[in-house]
Amino acid sequence: MAPNSDYDVAIIGGGPAGSTAGTLLKKYAPNLRVLILERETFPRDHVGESQLPSISGILDEMGVWDKVEAAGFPIKIGATYKWGKSPELWDFEFVPASEFVDEPRPAKYEGQRKRTAFQVDRALYDQILLDHSAELGCEVRQATKVARVHRQGDAVDHLELEDGTQIRARWYVDASGHSGIVRRTMGVQVEQPTSLQNIAIWDYWRNTDWAVEIGVGGTRVQVISLGYGWIWFIPLGPDRTSVGLIVPAEYYKKSGARPDDLYQKALKEDARIASLMENATAEGNLSTTKDWSFIAGRIVGENWFLCGESAGFADPILAAGMSLAQAAGREVAYTIVGMDRPRSNPKWLKEQYDKRQRDRLQNHIRFADYWYTANGQFTDLKDFTSQIAADAGLDLDPERAWQWLATGGFIDQDLSIGTGGYSLTAVKNLGQFLSDLKPGSPLEENNVFRLDLTNATFYERANYYRGNITREDCYIRDGKVLPLNTVFEFLVDILQQETRLPAIAGMIGHIARQHPNDEYFRTEILNWVTQAMEAMVWDGWVKASYDPSLPLMPLNAGPTETVHLNRDSAHI
Ligand SMILES: Cc1cc2nc3c(=O)[nH]c(=O)nc-3n(C[C@H](O)[C@H](O)[C@H](O)COP(=O)(O)OP(=O)(O)OC[C@H]3O[C@@H](n4cnc5c(N)ncnc54)[C@H](O)[C@@H]3O)c2cc1C
Repeated sequence: MAPNSDYDVAIIGGGPAGSTAGTLLKKYAPNLRVLILERETFPRDHVGESQLPSISGILDEMGVWDKVEAAGFPIKIGATYKWGKSPELWDFEFVPASEFVDEPRPAKYEGQRKRTAFQVDRALYDQILLDHSAELGCEVRQATKVARVHRQGDAVDHLELEDGTQIRARWYVDASGHSGIVRRTMGVQVEQPTSLQNIAIWDYWRNTDWAVEIGVGGTRVQVISLGYGWIWFIPLGPDRTSVGLIVPAEYYKKSGARPDDLYQKALKEDARIASLMENATAEGNLSTTKDWSFIAGRIVGENWFLCGESAGFADPILAAGMSLAQAAGREVAYTIVGMDRPRSNPKWLKEQYDKRQRDRLQNHIRFADYWYTANGQFTDLKDFTSQIAADAGLDLDPERAWQWLATGGFIDQDLSIGTGGYSLTAVKNLGQFLSDLKPGSPLEENNVFRLDLTNATFYERANYYRGNITREDCYIRDGKVLPLNTVFEFLVDILQQETRLPAIAGMIGHIARQHPNDEYFRTEILNWVTQAMEAMVWDGWVKASYDPSLPLMPLNAGPTETVHLNRDSAHI
């Protein structure tokens, strides 16, 4: 222990990143003395309410799922978009509405609920999470602002509170969100790998209609493109809805309009939003912020970590902020617990944390770039979107855009999460609605698949699971990673034995018959086989060719149940 340290870990900020880190630190190392310093008194409002399903697993791991579910937040099964090349509304669903079973709430984290997300009132949600971390033994001090961070070289020496109190800890976690107090003190530069620079204007509303109700409390959020920006419409409960407008900063400046006028005008412009809000009243606390995507140049130092939004921000179009923040909170907890374990390798643990967060942010920023540039609805913003495309290196050739999407954000990590909650198959099916994206599949026209590991080297990366960080074997070549886990390990095994499609399919079928009731096998392996194989071809791990004497794979290239034209009748 560092001399005179009062705590093992001091966390600055009690938002989702800080409370997730605190809770999991106490869960996996109950003896650690963990302090969370939060400048506000909760409950306090916070923008950013729409979640992705990957958070649900983290809430379960934190032991707080039941409390969040008991709060009765709407279940998010997906989003309805006016976005892309056609003016028609379309839906993306994590769980197809047609399959969603109307079950009583509160429900457990099991079955279909592993695939859904929440839309949360942040005042309540952040408080539930922070109270939970206190219940697990974190010392939580609200209304306690860290006024200054004192440094010695690249280390934090101590924190100074507003009343002059000094706090010393072995480790410091900067979960202060946009403030990024440690990041700023350490002079960490930020990268802005995109020209996506928007401003957001929002208020909360009483008595709006929901566009659609699915089962008990299920719905889709609405994401509605205007010619010059877009609107979010996120029901937070039976009687409170977050409604916001995003426009490029440049557009806002040129418009010369006041935020309030821009906002009121936008809400009346779209027929669906106008009808949902016909009987609604605003709470009257109009807020604005700029939401410029960035990534911190580095995320770890000698005795500190950046975690959540202090480390970077990806445009809200993908609703990924809390997912990124809580994934980081989880992984920083694993990293700190791992440091104290015998024979640990702190340098490697820190490198892994840093790389993983930065890669995730980068993927989401690039995906957001693509999302904006693939929106034919942005008629007033052609220059804006072409500048983003140029910055992101997108020439919008559909084939290349797909390859970039497919290989930039999926094979390297989080396969089952996918960037922004989209799996590879879902992304591909978006092609019918986003402009010019008509990806072909190497699996449609080939039937011989040869594993190619030439010049690949072995690499070990971190796997964060059940409180432990294990080393996971991967191959690496030209910056591309092939992890030897789950579905990839399964496919590598098979492809080392078979190359011809009928034999590969036969072997998969044979193994599947040996695991008739194995949920892990079905959800983590079988569900992903086609996507993983495709990603392996895109990344060059598998060389695909065609043998006319063999059959081709029957693939459904058309729309799936998860991406389809909007079917709600009430508000169109
Ligand atoms: C316009 C907009 C829309 C968004 N929409 C979404 C969305 O739909 N879905 C989504 O998932 N995300 C969304 N986000 C992003 C989301 O809000 C953030 O990513 C998320 O809140 C990050 O969590 P965090 O814990 O890192 O930071 P925060 O939630 O900001 O928490 C940081 C905490 O630190 C405290 N703090 C700051 N400085 C100090 C200090 N000096 N001392 C003590 N405490 C301090 C703050 O009071 C705060 O409580 C959106 C963001 C914006 C700007």
